[in-house]
Amino acid sequence: MAPTGSAALMSPKVLLLGLDRPGIAAACEGLGLQPFHHREIYKWMYARRTLDPMAWTNVPKASRALMASRVLSGLPEVVGDQASSDGTRKFLLRLGDGQTVECVYIPDRERRTVCVSSQVGCAMGCTFCLTGKMGLRRNLTPGEILSQFFVLESRTDIAETSYNVVFMGMGEPMANRANLEAALALLEDPEGMAISPRRITVSTSGLAEALEAFAQSPVCPRLSLSLNGARDELRTRLMPINARYSLADLRRVLQNLTRKNRERISLEYVLMGGVNDSEQDARDVARFARGLKVKVNLISFNAAEGLPYQPSTAQATSAFQEVLNRQGITATVRRSRGLDILAACGQLARKHWDEGVSP
Ligand code: SF4
Repeated sequence: MAPTGSAALMSPKVLLLGLDRPGIAAACEGLGLQPFHHREIYKWMYARRTLDPMAWTNVPKASRALMASRVLSGLPEVVGDQASSDGTRKFLLRLGDGQTVECVYIPDRERRTVCVSSQVGCAMGCTFCLTGKMGLRRNLTPGEILSQFFVLESRTDIAETSYNVVFMGMGEPMANRANLEAALALLEDPEGMAISPRRITVSTSGLAEALEAFAQSPVCPRLSLSLNGARDELRTRLMPINARYSLADLRRVLQNLTRKNRERISLEYVLMGGVNDSEQDARDVARFARGLKVKVNLISFNAAEGLPYQPSTAQATSAFQEVLNRQGITATVRRSRGLDILAACGQLARKHWDEGVSP
């Protein structure tokens, strides 16, 4: 029996986005609906990206109306939408509790990539990152992680073709592992959001234990390690997490992962002038990478107010790449996208936060 009268009016609304099939079945039951509707509802929400219960035409009309009154189907409010001259667009979303989070759309000729967040803020405190300066506000729920895809698909052209996903927005994904895994299961499910795991990359600052545990989970996106320094002293200065998990710890984990026939892992290296871009730094990276199934992505640093670093020169960047290539390590230089809208990790949210747009 569906709850009626004042009982129905008083019970809190249910958030379906982010629930798996058993979760939706339990929510249906809680609302007094037949749990067998959960299969249809799952397809409407994830495969057809339709969150409005009134549009679920193969669910009985009375149930649809009840769902519409009892279910929260709204997406976060878009409070920032900045376009860069290179086509990159950065969205700032206001979540239910007023916190804000960012996601980015990056078009590149035929290819489309979206960059999404896993937390509000971040506890890792990397010294080259504005999100790190915010500290951690909270984890995103699976539904909030997925809501970024719904917003991006409705506001850009990514839904017209298959697109790539990188978890390189705000937050350390491995520090929100349970919610990340739940969201990835729905993203990767061919009957759900149907995004190929080969098109999804999860990046970590190097939470070694969590990374090992994540590799045991059923989800299987590509992995990337944000390296940025291949001597402990340098890396700890840039990424304090290195004091807890050293380069030797990370190397051991990467070795185990690649032995298990995982895809080649990418090492992200943000080049900062006079800090981590010398030829010796490149030789250290080569030493770290040798014998691992990895490739190196060199990224130019996005200078921003409040950060004490500058990008490397074009000359230093190609010298760095050359050292790696000479030593047999595949290294590519990634063009920095959306520089004019501060599209590097966390920079838009921090800017709005400073300006008092969100708490
Ligand atoms: S670079 Fe990534 S892990 Fe480091 S502080 Fe920024 S968001 Fe966190």
